[in-house]
Amino acid sequence: MSERLVILGAKGGPAIRPGGPSPTASLLEIGGRRIVIDCGLGVSRGLVEAGMALPTLDLVVITHLHSDHVLELGPLIHTAWTSGLKTPVEIWGPVGTRTVWDGFVASLSYDIELRIDDEGRPDIRDLVRIHEFGEGRLIEEDGLIVEALRVDHPPVEECYAIRVRHEGRVIVFSADTAYFPPLADFARGADILVHEAMHPSGVDRLVARTGNGERLKAHLLASHTMASDAGRIASSAKVGHLVLNHLVPADDPEIGEGDWRAELAATWDGPLTIGRDGLSLALPGTQHKRKSA
Ligand SMILES: [Zn+2]
Ligand SMILES: [Zn+2]
Repeated sequence: MSERLVILGAKGGPAIRPGGPSPTASLLEIGGRRIVIDCGLGVSRGLVEAGMALPTLDLVVITHLHSDHVLELGPLIHTAWTSGLKTPVEIWGPVGTRTVWDGFVASLSYDIELRIDDEGRPDIRDLVRIHEFGEGRLIEEDGLIVEALRVDHPPVEECYAIRVRHEGRVIVFSADTAYFPPLADFARGADILVHEAMHPSGVDRLVARTGNGERLKAHLLASHTMASDAGRIASSAKVGHLVLNHLVPADDPEIGEGDWRAELAATWDGPLTIGRDGLSLALPGTQHKRKSA
């Protein structure tokens, strides 16, 4: 299996627009595992386009329960099931994830019962295992370690940055967070930090466009991170590569890649990638890591 990070959905927030990017979801292929991080609208299509056979789905991590991160969790698993899934899927998410799943299954009970009887499929409810987590270590198996750090995303109380480690490689996802210096410790020395980001003049243009004005702006400023501050976290953590994701705005033609890079000019001078749907980054090899360790 290739080892790579694929950004499936690069935008922040639940809205979609013609030709624009999808809400948040990522695929991390590492150590022979495929980990789906967040399940915003479009995650199923994104995984298929990235070359993943949906029946191989077995590990999903949800950072928090805002809809732009969880709306397609149920539909993803259901689509994997109707595509031939027969093996267990482990879902890790904050408290409330079980309610999301149970509600989805209840809403689709007609279809689910029908397909079990009519098509002889295994019961989807028996295939899914929900693990509601708090801060700390989630998974440790076959050299794969997944850990969570609670970040600052008011009014959501349970929102977790995720760190994935395997044979010396470290990839960290900030999740949604205001500027949160402890994240730099959590991401210390990571090969890749995927951090959310806002563009200041883009936020002003967005606020002017949407009509929900000052209230939206207050939410964004209290709960999310300006791109320059994402650069501060990356520099403080001395990460190998910064990937900006959960872009706000992600679909303003006036805010291009150069504008995002300009925001980071003063705070980050290392490798930088601006997220977009379908972007794939190869992970450093284990041999390289062993040599440099
Ligand atoms: Zn979000
Ligand atoms: Zn959020």
